[in-house]
Formats: sequence, structure tokens, C-alpha cells
Amino acid sequence: MAAYDGQQVVVVGAGRTGLALTAFFLGRGARVVLSDSRSAADRPELAALAARGVTLDCGGHNPELFVAADLIAISPGVPLTLPAIVAARQQGVPVLGEIEIACRELTAPLVAVTGTNGKSTTTCLLGEVFHSWGKKSFVGGNLGTPLIEAVDEQWDWLLAELSSFQLEAIDTFRPRYGLLLNLSPDHLDRYPDMAAYLAAKQQLFLNMADGDVAVLNGDDPQVLALAESAPCRKVLFSSSSQLDEGMSLVGGELVWRWAGQETRFSAGQLQLCGSHNLENVMAALIPPLLEGCPAEIAWAAVCAFGGLEHRMVRVRELDGVVWYNDSKGTNVGSVVKSLAGLEAPVTLIAGGRDKGGDYAPLAEAAAGKVALSILIGEAAERLEKSFQGKVITQRAATLEEAVLLAHQMTPCGGSVLLSPACSSFDMFSSYTERGEAFVKAVNQLPAKGEG
Ligand code: ADP
Repeated sequence: MAAYDGQQVVVVGAGRTGLALTAFFLGRGARVVLSDSRSAADRPELAALAARGVTLDCGGHNPELFVAADLIAISPGVPLTLPAIVAARQQGVPVLGEIEIACRELTAPLVAVTGTNGKSTTTCLLGEVFHSWGKKSFVGGNLGTPLIEAVDEQWDWLLAELSSFQLEAIDTFRPRYGLLLNLSPDHLDRYPDMAAYLAAKQQLFLNMADGDVAVLNGDDPQVLALAESAPCRKVLFSSSSQLDEGMSLVGGELVWRWAGQETRFSAGQLQLCGSHNLENVMAALIPPLLEGCPAEIAWAAVCAFGGLEHRMVRVRELDGVVWYNDSKGTNVGSVVKSLAGLEAPVTLIAGGRDKGGDYAPLAEAAAGKVALSILIGEAAERLEKSFQGKVITQRAATLEEAVLLAHQMTPCGGSVLLSPACSSFDMFSSYTERGEAFVKAVNQLPAKGEG
């Protein structure tokens, strides 16, 4: 446990994690500065913190406060390239992320889940299994509750989703299990290139050693390459080959081979659908099975899980067309997986804030399956160029207009998929708000005969 009594701590970012960090440091007797690029106007909770002695540094970041600090604690979205942080680091001020700060307090073993896609689903699946097994487990991190909120309670297990941004600012963080699900281009608006994104993900293994287990996607060469030098045990899952040891998908069954024993589970019993979710299930089963959770408890728990909102959720069927909300499909890799689960013809609604990636692999996957792509938001032009000659496109000014257009254009027997391959921030506050707007618009559509 670290001592912060009397220390001057700058907490950067006044979102949920920043507020949790502020509460944590106040409780440990630190003097806290809360710094955010946005103004504090209309935020009564910040005024309440000021009344408790917190110095507010809002509407920008004052480098003097940063340089004078004993510690800078950053929220997940905050880049290490922020000039005030760079200046403080040059003066030797330590900069730590919330995950690192939390881990210094927590004693329970940690299962850390990262990868480009499937993190939230896999973390929730782990939660279902550990809870069913009777273990008091914290489920959170990049999903829901920040890890720092776990510090004042005793837990059997900590199950945490981690983003690449969170992994950037760690130091001693060492999970018992590190799950790396898959890697494909994402967040290239935040990283100079793919190598920098991969380097952030590789931090997962930084301190993992003897006694720890890396759970790895055996079908993803980039995953295997990143884990290669980690001096811990490696346990793989694979959808493409039967492993002698580990978890494989073989002809509709998940086959778990370990210590000379074999256990088989029938994938048809799962509520989750799509090949990507089978990967998530395989990954989530490995830690509890290795820890001695009875296979029937683990399997019943993953089968009972119906999936998270805004991830390939069937909204309704209208005029023989099925509508799906996959608003969380925010990068090319995830949309490719979501499309793989659907039959042609698909109307794909895509676009939003561009993240700087290459849309060519999406154009490849969409060709022949997507009969029409309706493009919205700032990325529409780049998407249109990538789809040229492969997929017919049309533009819409709003999501609601895209829904109306899809309703007119999609033939009976087809499906409509909102899976944007982009973030939502050009038109919405979050992927959740975007998904909700989509569901609302779809549910308001009249049947064609009623039009
Ligand atoms: P994350 O937390 O990493 O964003 P989620 O579990 O929220 O992942 O899923 C987001 C989207 O990513 C889903 O809607 C689906 O389209 C896609 N996805 C989920 N799991 C996988 C996977 N294992 N491989 C590729 N894509 C996936």
C-alpha cells in the first residue's frame, strides 16, 4: 500500500475515473489538484470538491501545478503527450495511471483482459463464471466501475477490462492472468502508427513472470508475437486447429485439454452467437478452469449469458427484414466479424468519427455481402472512397435518415446492420447514445403496408 499523506497529487481528467481517483487521494490525506481541459461550469460536483479543499484546474492544464506535484495520476483517456505532463516528467515527477495506482492497493489476484475487440464481453463472461463459482469478484476497469473503486473492499478475484491507454501508464502492475484476445488496427488517431498501439498492448506482459498465465489467441500471429518474450506460462485458444493443450473449437464443440484430461462443451448451448463470441467464451473459460472451477459450473454460467447491449443485438423484424444494433462495432476488425455472422443481402449503416485506420479490409469483407452501405458522419467520404467499385454506397445526413433509407432499400429476406467502424463523437456523446437513437428510429418505422 502506497502512502500519500500530505502529498500534492494532480489528478488529470474529471470524468468518472478522475472523480474516483480524487476521492481515493482525499481519503489518503493527499492535497489534490483536479485538472481537466473542459471548463468546470455546470458541474456542481466539481464545486462540491472545491469546497472539500480540491484545487480545480479546469478549462486547460496549468503546467506550474503539474511541475510542482509529487505525483500525477491520469485517467484512461489522457494522452502522455499532454504538454503539461511532458513538462512535469522532464522534471522527474512520476506519472501513473489509475490501474497502477489501484494495483498498489489491491491484494486479490487479477485477471486482466485486453485486445482490440471482445474485451467487455469476455470480462463480463469471466464475472458470470466467478460469481457462479461463489467467488466475490470485482468486475470493471475500462468497463463500468473503475478499478480504483475496488480498493476499499476485500475481493477473492479482480476481473478487469483494460484499454491500450490504461496499459500505457503502468509500472509494477502484474496480473495473475493476462488475456490478449486479438489485435487489429484501432485508435490510429491517438497512436502515431500500429507499432505504437501494439507496444501499448504489450505492456500487459511487462511484469508477468513465473506463476502467471498469458491466455492467448492462438490464431492471431500478432498476439503470439507480442507475448513471445513474456516469461510466464502461455495457454492458447484456437478456432482453427485442435490444440494438444488448451481450448479449441472443433466441429461445434469447445474442447478443453489440460493435464492429460479432455472436457467437451457443445457450442450450440450458448446464447451468444457469432464466431467472435466463441473466441470470447474460450478465453473466459480458461482462467476459472485452471483455478479449479468445476467445468459444469463454468459452462452453465457462460451459457446463461445473453450478451451486452449494443453488440450485435437483434432489434426487430419488419417486412421480412431483420435489424441489428452493433453500435459498439467501432473499428474495422469488429465490423468484419459482425458481417461474417450475417447472410447477404445486408444493408450496412457505417460512419462516424474517423479513427485513422484503413477501411480496405472492410470493403473486402463487405463485397458480395453488403448490397448497400449507407454512410453517415465525418468518415463518410473516406469510407465511400474505400468502397468504390466494391460496394454501392449512399450518404445520409443523420442516423434517422439512414434508418429511413435502409427501410426503403432493403429487400425482404435481408438485414440491416448498424456497425459504424468509427467512434460516435461527431454526432453523439457515446456509442450507447448512438445505439439508443438507432433502436428508437427502428422501432418507430411503420410496416411498409402501413406507410
Ligand atoms: P470491446 O470491449 O473490446 O470493445 P466488446 O465485447 O464490447 O469489445 O465488443 C465490441 C464489438 O466487437 C462487438 O459488437 C463485435 O462486433 C466485436 N467483437 C466482439 N468480440 C470480438 C472478437 N473476439 N473478435 C473480433 N471482434 C469482436
